[in-house]
Amino acid sequence: MNDATRDFHRRRIGEMVVTAIFDGMVEISLDAATNISQAEARGLQDRDLRPYPPMLPTSFFAVSMGEDSILIDAGGAPHLDPELGLGRASLLAAGLGPDRIRTVLMTHLHTDHYGGLILPDGTAAFPNAELVMHGREHAARYGGTELPPDYMRHALEPYADRIRLIEAGQAFPGIEAVFLPGHTAGHIGWRLRSAGEQLLIWGDVVHLPSIQFRHPEVSMSYDIDREQSAASRQHVFAQAARDGHLVAGMHLDFPCFGHVDASEIGYRWIPEPVSKTP
Ligand SMILES: [Zn+2]
Repeated sequence: MNDATRDFHRRRIGEMVVTAIFDGMVEISLDAATNISQAEARGLQDRDLRPYPPMLPTSFFAVSMGEDSILIDAGGAPHLDPELGLGRASLLAAGLGPDRIRTVLMTHLHTDHYGGLILPDGTAAFPNAELVMHGREHAARYGGTELPPDYMRHALEPYADRIRLIEAGQAFPGIEAVFLPGHTAGHIGWRLRSAGEQLLIWGDVVHLPSIQFRHPEVSMSYDIDREQSAASRQHVFAQAARDGHLVAGMHLDFPCFGHVDASEIGYRWIPEPVSKTP
């Protein structure tokens, strides 16, 4: 599974180097697709020769500017999701040692995105990193009135004194938080801008590319607000198609970069050829 072609892939955005890091794949149920019949969902998957049940690839990203590197999400961990956690070795292979990571920007708090924040012994995987997330995500899933589940508390506790909560807008030079709620209450994407180029890393806007580009109204049963998730998806697809900017997502086919184009029915995904390296 963790073959060399899927380990990591670098792409330049202006003066930034963005590295997509493959973290693993989990089987999901097509029943999780809502607002579409199972027959139609299966037909769209089959048309693109996708496996049944569907496989959900998971990746996360590193952004390097000079000596400084940040992560956008941290992938999963084998003790939470047995098929995930491959990304840590790939980070090292890409020369992105854990000590170099100063910031981890989170799209949202699900195990396949934050599990990699801790090592199996419970210590911080990125000992020098500040953790940045939307205030609403923190309140809804971690710091609110309800106690978070133990596994989430264990993953975030080593960072407790270095969590920075943000709202939509600027968070880091050249990187802006884009509020895309619905999958979770405080789900955000991160827009990178450098030297006239830009990239939106949109988190979990899409789980099933063969279905959701064509039918943005299809949400997942694990979207906390399915209508809001669909509205965020519609909005970001329309903007990406209109502006022609590069996008990437955590559950798109590796290495996850591409463009959105309007189509007779909904939209279509145009993956970027992997030959484009820095
Ligand atoms: Zn996810």
